[in-house]
Amino acid sequence: MHPFAQYIDNVPDFPKSGILFRDVSPLLRQKFSETIDAMSDLFTPDEWAQVDHLVGIESRGFIFASALAYKHGKGFVKVRKPGKLPNVCATIAYGLEYGSDELQMQKGDSGKVIICDDLIATGGSMKAAADLCEQVGYEVVGLACLVDLKALNDFEWHGMRVRSVIQYE
Ligand code: IMP
Repeated sequence: MHPFAQYIDNVPDFPKSGILFRDVSPLLRQKFSETIDAMSDLFTPDEWAQVDHLVGIESRGFIFASALAYKHGKGFVKVRKPGKLPNVCATIAYGLEYGSDELQMQKGDSGKVIICDDLIATGGSMKAAADLCEQVGYEVVGLACLVDLKALNDFEWHGMRVRSVIQYE
């Protein structure tokens, strides 16, 4: 197991009975720069050179996408819950590990993006975000998460796997 795993709180029955919630808050509090550096290392310098923007999925995806955008001098783009963004260009419905929701984006361009989130469970949020990015005009060149609950998914999008720092098999 990755040494960062010791800083993740495993919370049973949150937010619903039967869910084991992996809370990354203590890791971010104690090892924030190391965590961002580890996510940065998921991609090679050549891969980073191709990227135009980091896309963050609301809300914890914003943490990683914005820090990585700053580190690499790239743009930051939001995928948001409904009703938060003006000038919405596309909306997509998706299933969550515990519920369902919608995500929205503003119009994009032909830029190349890496999509970031804190954690992938079923892959529903990541798939919705990737589909949305494509719909609004971006080219998705990478998918990144801090934590992959591999036991819950075998996710890939157009043959692309999610890269992650910590995996739970
Ligand atoms: P998925 O769409 O089923 O892959 O669920 C991933 C989304 O739900 C991410 O945006 C996560 O922030 C959130 N999520 C699901 N399970 C957990 C968890 O155990 N810890 C933290 N976030 C979670």
